[in-house]
Amino acid sequence: MKKKFSNKYPMVWQKDDLYLEIYCSIPNIATGIVLSTDNSIFVIDPGDGILRDLYKNFPKTEILNISDIFISHGHHDHIGGLWGLLTYLFVMKKKTALNIHYPLGSIEISTVLKAFADVYKNDLTYKINLQAIIDNKIFSRKNVKIYPFEVEHFDDEVLGTTSQKVPALGYKFVYKGKSIVYGGDTAYCENLVKMTTGSDLAIIEAGGKSENDSTHMTIKQAESVGETANEYFLVHINE
Ligand SMILES: [Zn+2]
Repeated sequence: MKKKFSNKYPMVWQKDDLYLEIYCSIPNIATGIVLSTDNSIFVIDPGDGILRDLYKNFPKTEILNISDIFISHGHHDHIGGLWGLLTYLFVMKKKTALNIHYPLGSIEISTVLKAFADVYKNDLTYKINLQAIIDNKIFSRKNVKIYPFEVEHFDDEVLGTTSQKVPALGYKFVYKGKSIVYGGDTAYCENLVKMTTGSDLAIIEAGGKSENDSTHMTIKQAESVGETANEYFLVHINE
């Protein structure tokens, strides 16, 4: 088992034409991930800075080819760059459709997407297909098989507000026999372990401050999940 961990971003993993790059994953700041193959480019969690990072790493034509965005949950550090990315795509005259996958019931995500549609409905050059995920149904996009799965995540207790469970997903991506699991933000949960076990790469958050944290995993918990995969990155670690 090989751990790949440093607090340094970007983190890169590649097997043949399956390429994954984590530009950033810092709690309360931003997560931004890109996954690509020879004929696809996906964004996973468009946190703040995602457009800048894509622009630095891909030619404009490739960015316009983004076909799918996968969002784990609606917290600001996972969707902060969504508006800018969607706007850039039509300013640059994207023509092909964009699918946005997200957990059903995420008020932040549905509100941002509704506002975006309201503001730009007459200008959009491309179609946005909203794919609110309600169950763990497997689907395929561009020869990549996607297995969404529910994870356990809560709002932070801020200013005395009671912590609430939020709609939150992890995703497993399988392409040409290779599998990548991204758990999103989650406490230790069976679903995550089940999906991670035997995968080629697991991207596991370790943002928990103590074992009593029901929202995130400690580094120790995250390592125990990561060890079930062939290789893993620990991300979303408090600095
Ligand atoms: Zn979160």
